[in-house]
Amino acid sequence: MKLLVVEDEMRTAGFLKRGFGEAGFLVDIAADGLEGLRLIQANKYDLVVLDIMLPGLDGLQILKWMRESGVQTPVIFLTARDSTNDRVAGLELGADDYLVKPFAFSELLARVRTILRRPPLREAVILRVGDLELDLTAHRATRTGQRLDLTAREFSLLSLFIRRAGEVLTRTFIAESVWDLSSQTDTNVVDVSVRRLRVKVDDPFPRKLIRTVRGVGYVLANPE
Ligand code: CA
Repeated sequence: MKLLVVEDEMRTAGFLKRGFGEAGFLVDIAADGLEGLRLIQANKYDLVVLDIMLPGLDGLQILKWMRESGVQTPVIFLTARDSTNDRVAGLELGADDYLVKPFAFSELLARVRTILRRPPLREAVILRVGDLELDLTAHRATRTGQRLDLTAREFSLLSLFIRRAGEVLTRTFIAESVWDLSSQTDTNVVDVSVRRLRVKVDDPFPRKLIRTVRGVGYVLANPE
């Protein structure tokens, strides 16, 4: 599956490229509208993530061109919080969905997958650390075979930890990965959420998997 991300904010573009890459997609990035249009004309994508505010051509103009030229590739718009008109215009022009910035990457990924209606991952769908097991397809987490009752956000957080098991993750990195792309998220949110996650993942079990690294962040590792 091949995606095009048209996004002029380099940080967001890099973040999306990495996130989609980790989820098993091939990703091209266009940093402005004209480059985006050129890539759409030259390649066959399974889906386009289109920012609206772009230098060159804006996202609405690109979508208009696509639909008028018979290019039916699904499009997800990224819009600024208060631009209701853009959202309406985008949907009228034939966008498949839109997300308001800032958004959680997990939410964008879920929408992309819904549109593509494909099984979520090509990589191994079961990840394990010790007796913790995450089934990324079924969104199910277990320890010693016991089902953990996690919210969607908690599952995202735990899957970030398990994908990077043994790596110390900073609060900022966690906030950017699980919450939004703007890094405006108060990192206290991370502490609170990790605490809640521990109640479910670690408290009932003798072996604790999530460790605090003072002044830095957290790491999930199998205590040997
Ligand atoms: Ca933009």
